[in-house]
Amino acid sequence: MCVVAHPDDECFGFGGALALASDRGIETSVICMTDGQAATHRGSANSGVELGETRRKEFAASCDVLGVTEHELLDYHDGQLQNVPVLEAAEHLVKRMRRFRPNVVITFGGDGGLNVHPDHMMVSFWTTTAFHWSGRTNRFPEVTPIFQPERLFHLSTNAFLPERHPPMPSPWSAAVNIEAVRERKTEAFRRHVSQAPLMERTKPFFAEHGSEEFYTLVAAATPGPVGLLKDLFDGLA
Ligand SMILES: [Zn+2]
Repeated sequence: MCVVAHPDDECFGFGGALALASDRGIETSVICMTDGQAATHRGSANSGVELGETRRKEFAASCDVLGVTEHELLDYHDGQLQNVPVLEAAEHLVKRMRRFRPNVVITFGGDGGLNVHPDHMMVSFWTTTAFHWSGRTNRFPEVTPIFQPERLFHLSTNAFLPERHPPMPSPWSAAVNIEAVRERKTEAFRRHVSQAPLMERTKPFFAEHGSEEFYTLVAAATPGPVGLLKDLFDGLA
């Protein structure tokens, strides 16, 4: 299960891991909290609502390219996630974790990712909270059955975007070679037609750094030190 804030986060940040999982027959779910109405790049949309409708379709098309099993876009307001009560957001996610029963959950780190977006930070906190609460019988006990995912990863990076405030990424403990699905990640991004200028601008960055995705293991069912994983599912039954 992958939890993101905006349409395009799923490919920009996590597309390699999602496509690789799909190729191995692993079911995936992507939850996106907003329809991205506050985006700088607005395509031909005349209003926020229109842009949101366009971006919902782009999100669905991108998920299809990545082979995502199921995807869902919630109705929170782009750019305003910091105003959403934690309890409410966590409940949405706990419900979905207990239903989908993911082994592995991936989301942004507390730094907010490459563009240090506050929405990404909020999604990181909510998903981390929901990951832990999903397995606790005293949190949303009416949502059954209780289910504890096994691993939580935050997105990390080995490089920063130029002309952006540099993030403070958590040191990675998983370096995933995504060369086999790199073209599909790019293809998924192309489905976000309204965001084409962003793709153009980040092209040099991904040309140089796009062969791997980096993640940090932040919670696991088995205690102990972590070596460098090459695969988010390494060692799971
Ligand atoms: Zn985003």
